[in-house]
Amino acid sequence: MDGRTGTAGGGARVHRGRDALYVDGGWRPAVAEGRIDVVDPATEQVIAHVPAGDARDVDAAVRAARRALPGWASTEPAKRAAVLAAAAELMAGRRDEIAATVTAELGAPPAFATAVHADMPTSVMASFAALAAEHPFEERIGNSRVLHEPVGVVGAITPWNYPLHQVVAKVAPALAAGCTVVLKPAEDTPLVAQLVAEVLDAAGLPAGVFNLVTGLGPVAGQALAEHPDVDLVSFTGSTAVGRQIGAAAGGAVKRVALELGGKSANVILPGADLARAVNVGVANVFANSGQTCSAWTRMLVDAARYEEAVGLAATAAAKYVPGGRLGPVVSAKQRDRVRGYIEKGVEEGARIVAGGPEAPEGLATGYYVRPTVFADVAPEMTIAQEEIFGPVVALIPYEDEEDALRIANGTVYGLAGAVWGADEAQAVAFARRMDTGQVDINGGRFNPRAPFGGYKQSGVGRELGPHGLAEYLQTKSLQF
Ligand code: NAD
Repeated sequence: MDGRTGTAGGGARVHRGRDALYVDGGWRPAVAEGRIDVVDPATEQVIAHVPAGDARDVDAAVRAARRALPGWASTEPAKRAAVLAAAAELMAGRRDEIAATVTAELGAPPAFATAVHADMPTSVMASFAALAAEHPFEERIGNSRVLHEPVGVVGAITPWNYPLHQVVAKVAPALAAGCTVVLKPAEDTPLVAQLVAEVLDAAGLPAGVFNLVTGLGPVAGQALAEHPDVDLVSFTGSTAVGRQIGAAAGGAVKRVALELGGKSANVILPGADLARAVNVGVANVFANSGQTCSAWTRMLVDAARYEEAVGLAATAAAKYVPGGRLGPVVSAKQRDRVRGYIEKGVEEGARIVAGGPEAPEGLATGYYVRPTVFADVAPEMTIAQEEIFGPVVALIPYEDEEDALRIANGTVYGLAGAVWGADEAQAVAFARRMDTGQVDINGGRFNPRAPFGGYKQSGVGRELGPHGLAEYLQTKSLQF
């Protein structure tokens, strides 16, 4: 298929999809015969087809990655950095196409697709170009020289929610470290992954260093996770699949990194700016239609200001008009799952103050869910314990700081969170006691070099920055 891009309604180009896998430096037909339909969640129309690769395709890609490993591992870090820097520039040059493609395959509204889905991964790619150039791949400890060497062949398995960011957060540090990669992206959003392959190819990455196999999770994903010649499996997705991948990696004694679910707490302490904390908190959950693993889905407010917060949250939710600022969720399956959780919240006695399980009015097509605010949520309710992955926020009252801490730490997850205090010191003191991997203080700001990852069942390992790079390195010490 030639002419990789089509024109969307707004004029921006959408990646059309290739009926091929990117293996050993070129686009090749899959051995497997199946295809995956890529569906636009706003229109419910099939917009492209990509191959559904199987174990034979995964094996060919892993072999290519293994062959390419010695050359890339021994390439000067500065040369690896130059390729990543070129990739970041190429991504910046294809910004509109990236945004239009993520809008088409995920449903993200155009402004959010540009500002977040296109720009965030571009900045992450650039940050790993810089890190590859400056990272100390050797250090002296007493009479030893410690070498930080690439782990080897990486199998990367990514979800659909931030389709480009999730790919770059694995591929960029792996390549910076000197590893070679086989990527199996989510079946719902393979187009932007194909775009990454084009970018890396154009940036001059040698053949076999990066390989892309599109396919179904239980087929291509599982074959990659269980392949004996993969040295490290890096997975982002559901806890259920992460558990399986972790068990298989344990059995094979290989490295594994897992970024799993979350149920993060947004703790608004007495004395905090309530209106700001609630507005930013609601925006944090409804961005990307609630499909953010680190979303602050539980808003904890002191009992004295609880009803005020409920009113503010309902008002804030009204600005998220489905089909406008609020995009659809990724699939019919996800829509039904989210609506099921909303129904469960009602059954368990929570009070709906905005939204609800019904389809939004006036939208006959598209996988839309009404932006929903629940009040009177008890910490043990299903909607306060399980990850919904939709535009649903649960407001939970607390009595005092100890009660807030008990509720904040009272789930199996520990991915992210937020604390708002009267001052920074109060918020930081609370954040230190939270069992979670990342906390935004009085709003926070994205830092592409800050480590991201989970405590407890939210995962194993860290992504981004020097900590993310370290995941792809193993150490060897030479004694003198
Ligand atoms: P999922 O776990 O089903 O899929 C994630 C990836 O794993 C996809 O590429 C999929 O094809 C692949 N996969 C599925 N089954 C597999 C198997 N048996 N072996 C190997 N790979 C397999 O998750 P999903 O339904 O696509 O995503 C939704 C859930 O993922 C959310 O509910 C959320 O909990 C979680 N999530 C977490 C993060 C995070 O960063 N922590 C990010 C996105 C999604």
